Amino acid sequence: MDATVTAPNPPLRVQRQREVVAALQRVLPTRSVLWHDESVAPYECDGLSAYRQRPLAVALPETHEEVGAVLKACHALNVPVVARGAGTGLSGGALPDNLGVTLSLARLNRIVHLDPLARTAIVQCGVRNLAISEAAAAHGLYYAPDPSSQIACTIGGNVAENAGGVHCLKYGLTVHNVLRVRGFTVEGESLTLGSEALDAAGLDLLAAFIGSEGLLGVATEVTVRLLPRPQVARCMLASFDDIGKAGDAVAAIIGAGLIPAGLEMMDRPMTAAVEDFVHAGYDLEAAAILLVESDGTPEEVDEEIARLTDVLQAAGATRLDISADEAQRLRFWSGRKNAFPATGRISPDYLCMDASIPRKRLAEMLHAINAMQTTYALRCVNVFHAGDGNLHPLILFDANNPQQLHQAEAFGNDILRTAVRLGGSITGEHGVGVEKLDAMCVQFSDAERGQMLAFKAAFDPQGLLNPGKAVPLLARCGELRGVVKSSALNEALNSLPRL
Ligand SMILES: Cc1cc2nc3c(=O)[nH]c(=O)nc-3n(C[C@H](O)[C@H](O)[C@H](O)COP(=O)(O)OP(=O)(O)OC[C@H]3O[C@@H](n4cnc5c(N)ncnc54)[C@H](O)[C@@H]3O)c2cc1C
Repeated sequence: MDATVTAPNPPLRVQRQREVVAALQRVLPTRSVLWHDESVAPYECDGLSAYRQRPLAVALPETHEEVGAVLKACHALNVPVVARGAGTGLSGGALPDNLGVTLSLARLNRIVHLDPLARTAIVQCGVRNLAISEAAAAHGLYYAPDPSSQIACTIGGNVAENAGGVHCLKYGLTVHNVLRVRGFTVEGESLTLGSEALDAAGLDLLAAFIGSEGLLGVATEVTVRLLPRPQVARCMLASFDDIGKAGDAVAAIIGAGLIPAGLEMMDRPMTAAVEDFVHAGYDLEAAAILLVESDGTPEEVDEEIARLTDVLQAAGATRLDISADEAQRLRFWSGRKNAFPATGRISPDYLCMDASIPRKRLAEMLHAINAMQTTYALRCVNVFHAGDGNLHPLILFDANNPQQLHQAEAFGNDILRTAVRLGGSITGEHGVGVEKLDAMCVQFSDAERGQMLAFKAAFDPQGLLNPGKAVPLLARCGELRGVVKSSALNEALNSLPRL
């Protein structure tokens, strides 16, 4: 059943906008409040551009204190607030609320303190992920979680999504690399979670905050762990003539007690698309390739590569290439890192799915996705953080053809349902946002979602922080459909009652 669209009465919206803009201008300089249509347009979506919505206003605070003041002002007016980092999220987490304020943290972009002895850095939440490693490089250190969007995405967005990346298999997700978060509650009260020590007293609210998709509070400052840069890194390319064998090889590597620095998989259609784009040197005959990275001291890397070679050969690898130097290693990775743009060259639109499954079921999942291509008459190219069991199937379609849009949506839902059936999860690292509200109803019972909503309500009783995201209201399961929603449903989402 389609949800009814109840567009807010325009004169009422304008009146509300005036109130909100006036309140924001009392706490921020004029240059830090945007509300004209053309100035808020760049904020109308994140990386999931199928959903677009303009907020009443965008607030661009420059200091920790200004963030608190904005939250206080919005709370006093009962206005929803959606925090935003760089807007690279892929699940619509930073999609504005049509009757709310988008709180852009992009101007909080200072590295506050870097302590090479403690191997920590205190950074403002708008600092780009890669900028942390760039600043730490002078001390031979780096920040390990490396989402492929790291050139643009912010540490605040990483915290909210518990971002991962190629190197998270060995070095952990954001949650394993953050010691402390400072910020504000929805009421604009200061909040400090975690500590600079290894542990903090009381309930581990830091771990609960990380990955909470902007629902519990707004981060302004993050203390991260830094790691010493490995002396050497080398990348292996392993080819397989059967996609199932490649999946089994991943399980065999982990089963052998090896934890490579990266363990990624691409199927043949994906390999062909990226090879045509960046000429990374991939084997175009292979049904699937694995990229396996080893890092450490030269001795550790030599030994690990020898063991990996044995495992990969025993698993049926038809070809093995090992990077001879840094330039070749970077060329091998350039294909994987450019997988999404390369897909953009072969299809007018694609739906990037994000699910995770137990590693040992990779081959089963890949065969299921292959069969779905026939069922839904659409192509799918696959790139995985295989070591983590985190899948990114990219479903190719043409959004100008409504039939294909629906088919892509059904295909995506089928992948998520299959992931749950195989013992996995509907998200790997991109979060639920608005994209996967329905899928939450597949994975969690009413009682489980009720607990999540109760937890959210303990931080935000009025449901003003990022409303309508991540956890669907109980009565809404089954009413909201699909992975990609039409703009009408999209508007309906925003008209849902607040918690
Ligand atoms: C090409 C591409 C590749 C990607 N690769 C990866 C990958 O390898 N791994 C991965 O994990 N993700 C990946 N992503 C997804 C995305 O980059 C991450 O989710 C990233 O963490 C989002 O950061 P952001 O600053 O852009 O956040 P935004 O998109 O602006 O926001 C994301 C969520 O965080 C909330 N939020 C933002 N800042 C704050 C804050 N300070 N306090 C509280 N809440 C906040 C927002 O409300 C929203 O819910 C990729 C995206 C793209 C486009």
